[in-house]
Amino acid sequence: MLNTIPGPDGPHAFAGNPLDRSEHLRGKPEKIQELLAASDSLFLPYWQLKPLFDPGESPRLHWVDGTVARPFVDQGVNWVFLGLRDGRAHFAFDVSILEEPEREGPFAGQGTFLDALRAAGSLNHEDAGLIAQSKSLIDWHSRRGFCSVCGSPTEMRQAGSSRHCTNEDCKAQHFPRTDPVVIMLAISKGRCLLGRQPFFPPHMFSALAGFIEPGESLEEAVRREVQEEAGVIVGDVHYHSSQPWPFPSSLMIGCICEATEDAIDVDGDELEEARWFDKDLVREALEGKRSDELWVPPPFAIAHQLIRSWVASDV
Ligand SMILES: [Zn+2]
Repeated sequence: MLNTIPGPDGPHAFAGNPLDRSEHLRGKPEKIQELLAASDSLFLPYWQLKPLFDPGESPRLHWVDGTVARPFVDQGVNWVFLGLRDGRAHFAFDVSILEEPEREGPFAGQGTFLDALRAAGSLNHEDAGLIAQSKSLIDWHSRRGFCSVCGSPTEMRQAGSSRHCTNEDCKAQHFPRTDPVVIMLAISKGRCLLGRQPFFPPHMFSALAGFIEPGESLEEAVRREVQEEAGVIVGDVHYHSSQPWPFPSSLMIGCICEATEDAIDVDGDELEEARWFDKDLVREALEGKRSDELWVPPPFAIAHQLIRSWVASDV
């Protein structure tokens, strides 16, 4: 029955990066140097993990050319090769060494460094996809300056797609990680299960979610999380869709699952409340009509899309 629930209308926000990641170029330092020097290459600055946006009402990423970016690259800031689009190389680089980049230096008057999550509701699809890749990588480099095996300094390699330990006796290679998270809408008798975390705004409820643990299948993680957080027992699990979530580097794996025992017993730790909501109320909440009673996450969040697909189904 769960397989009659429709999938999403299109790629989620933060998916759909338009670049060809050109993995084959990463191990060719001479080619990467050529692209770094090319006059048509584009560079996206990040300051304290915030990308630069054009000034104006609807945020668009503000790319700069090599004359602005290369002095930073030459100083040894973190940078990454993101890929090609129509033959043009795209890079991201970290300018967190600047104290007030919007007031002085090459970015003064060029735009605003904005928190990507705050801007997510008004990003266009391509920019969100580009942020998902570049923000996760810049963040990873900023956290991995030392080897997790021996503690020695690490160096960026492969045009930013790996780091290597500088200790000759260690030489460990480190690669960016993606952390899988299950996010699931449990359903039962025409209702869906939504929970509230203590920091949510008033009346906000969302799908339950949690990190997959080592040695655990997707289905097992869904069943464990729903039981741990809400005390509800789940049977069938149906994969719906997935969403990159660069805060800092998760992959949200969206599922819809069916409860076999629907009594709620909230853990009181991650959730402060969980409830079964009937479909009419949830449908109106999606349309923003019941904000004094139920407020669900906005459309850029996969939780919203899970709820929307269920509402559109006969299940
Ligand atoms: Zn090491």
